[in-house]
This record gives sequence, C-alpha cells and structure tokens, in this order.
Amino acid sequence: MRTILSVLVMMLCTTSVCAQVKTKGFAVFEANGHFQPYEFNRHEMGDNEIEIKTLYAGICHSDLHHVFSDWGKEEYPMVPGHEILGQVVRVGKNVTKFSVGDYAGIGCMVDACHECDWCRQGLEQYCKKVVLTYHGHNQYHNGEATQGGYSNKYVLNADFAIKVPANARMERVAPLLCAGITTYSPMQFVRVRRGDKVAIAGFGGLGHMAVQYAVSLGADVTVFDITEDKRSDAARLGAKAYVNVNDPKQMQGHENEFDFILSTIPQYYDMNAYLRMLRYRGQFGIVGLPAFRNMPSLKLSDFIFTGGRYVFGSQIGGIRETQEMIDYSVEHDIYPEVEVIRPDGAEIDKAYKNVLDGKVKFRYVIDMREVK
Ligand code: NDP
Repeated sequence: MRTILSVLVMMLCTTSVCAQVKTKGFAVFEANGHFQPYEFNRHEMGDNEIEIKTLYAGICHSDLHHVFSDWGKEEYPMVPGHEILGQVVRVGKNVTKFSVGDYAGIGCMVDACHECDWCRQGLEQYCKKVVLTYHGHNQYHNGEATQGGYSNKYVLNADFAIKVPANARMERVAPLLCAGITTYSPMQFVRVRRGDKVAIAGFGGLGHMAVQYAVSLGADVTVFDITEDKRSDAARLGAKAYVNVNDPKQMQGHENEFDFILSTIPQYYDMNAYLRMLRYRGQFGIVGLPAFRNMPSLKLSDFIFTGGRYVFGSQIGGIRETQEMIDYSVEHDIYPEVEVIRPDGAEIDKAYKNVLDGKVKFRYVIDMREVK
C-alpha cells in the first residue's frame, strides 16, 4: 500500500504540482476594495528564474484603478502589487545575476519576448508580449494568471528583477519600482537640465518622487496639487513654488512659464490649462492615467492656438533604466516618504480608502516580512 502511495506522489511531482510555489497573499474577490487572505500557487521556478521572499510591497494608485476596474474589466481574485522589494531565496541553475540573500526589486513586469525591437532597445514595457506582474497572463508559463506583490513570494525571470544595493533604505525601496521609475524615465526622456523650469502636477506617490528627481537634476520646480496640506512638504523636498489648483488666483500668471510639465494626476483635469503654462517648444509629459469613464482630453482648438508645445505619454521604464534609477536613487539618497502598514486585510482596506479620500500623504507600504 505504502509503495503504491509513494509512486502516486512521485507521479504528481513529475507533473510539477509538487514544485509549484505555495504563496500566501491578500486578494480582492470583486471590485470592492475589500481584501482577504488568499492562498495560491505560482509556477515551478525555471532555470532562468529566481524566487524571492517579499519584504515590502507599495500601494500604487494604479493598484486602486485595477482593483476598482477603472481601466476596464478585470479578473478576480486579484492580488495587486507591482512595487515589490524582496530577498532572493532560490536561484535557477542558469542565473548569474543574483545569489541567495541578495535584495531584488520587482516592478510592473516580470517577463517579455526578449526579441522584438522594443525589448532590444531596453523598452520592454512596450513589448506586445510583456507579462505584467499581476492582472496578466504569463504566456511563458502556460498562461498562468499573474498575481502581485501583496503576497509572500514571487517567482520570475531573473532578467526582470532589479538588483537593489545592500546599503539601500529597504523599508522605502519598494515604491521606487513604479513611482520612482515612472517619474525618473520622462525626466531622462526630456533631458531635464540645471535651471530648467519644471512643474509637477499631482503631488502624491509619483509626484513627490518627480519633485525629488527634478530638484536633484538642478531644475527650478513648481508643484500643482489640490490641497494646501502639502505646501510645506513641497518646500521641504526642494520645490521653489506651490500652486493650489483649487484657488483660481494661484492659477493665474503662469502662462509660458515652464520648460517641462509632468502630470501624475489620477483624476479628470483641464489639460489645456497646463498646455498654456508651457513655453514655446516646452514639453508636457503625462503619466497619470485616470479612470476611463473620467478621462481628460485636449481641446483641439486650444491645442492648435497654443501651438509649438509637445505632448507625450510615458509608461514606467525599461529594465535597464529601472536599474539605473535604483542606483541613482540610492546614490543620491532619493526615496519615497512611506507609511508602513501591517499585512492585514482590514489595514489594506483602510489604506485604500485613505488614498481615495486624499488622506495619505505619499505612499503606503505593506510590511510583508511576517507573512511566512
Ligand atoms: P496618488 O493618489 O498617490 O497621487 C495623486 C496626487 O494627485 C494626489 O496628491 C492627489 O491629491 C493629486 N490630485 C488629484 N487631482 C488633482 C488635480 N486635479 N490637480 C492636481 N493634483 C491632483 O497617485 P499615484 O501618484 O500613485 O498615481 C498617480 C497616477 O499615475 C495614477 O493614475 C496611476 O495609475 C498613474 N500611474 C501611471 C504609471 C505609468 O506608467 N504611466 C505608473 C504608475 C502610476 P489628493 O491626494 O488630495 O487626492
């Protein structure tokens, strides 16, 4: 009898069920922002992959957009989280980039085709076969539904994990993997220089990173947000001016002022108002992506009558640039300001509500270390 049982177990193992990685996380089961513990399996680690133990996971506003199906129909259960700091616990036999014990970051993507023009240029985020960290399907692993970083383990292609220097401030690293790269990348794209006049619209998780990068590049920075509460924070992070967009008087007098405006705004807003604040040949970079039902747009007549300004969108950044951003941030001591919360469904629910109500200053980070 025992022999039959052990043969059965061996057969199961060779069909790889045994090698799947049992994972514990927090999921929503419908678009209601109510998190509950959830256990699931990740695929067996491949030869080019690593397994990490999650230490911290940031709560990005994009997580809220996904959870509430702001950007179209989503699949549930959903474990969000694409701002992940972890420690490597296993490495595949072909992996040389990481050793057990190294710190590794995971952002919004965990694999791509490695062959297309985008991948070859280091812009994997635009690859048509990119695998998103969650709310995606991993076509390189039998279409597995991907689940994110509000969980205790992740298995991914080592090429898509970012090396985090051991001297980094670990508690504050996770949001760099999305908020950091999403604001660093457009600054590099427009080549922000010393003395440039830069405006950051939306001073939350992304916005406060953008301010720090622009200041570190020598720009003269103005912040636009909807509240008075963050005026002193903007000054503390190096901004020269702060505009409360809800006060029409403060919105006056900025025509033709800025070389570059970066919008991180997650709600409907007047895009043309920002266009008018750009200098001739100035650039308007957009990373904030409101819900589809509430999408702002450019009024074409204003766009043409305020001619000679460039508008571009930007999505996170490629793997090479994300590594560059991490190294730059650690070297220049640029980090998000975080409120660390416990790994508990009710705590995450409360954090989501606070983000929606504008009650978080910058970023919530879930301390996942105790989830074994
Ligand atoms: P946060 O909620 O942390 O920050 C948004 C900030 O914008 C808050 O300070 C908010 O104020 C402020 N705000 C809201 N409405 C206005 C307005 N009309 N004018 C000026 N400021 C306003 O969000 P995140 O920084 O995490 O994300 C911002 C957006 O960027 C989201 O839409 C997100 O999905 C998107 N994103 C895009 C990425 C990309 O690759 N392009 C990657 C990551 C995120 P208050 O707090 O008071 O509400």
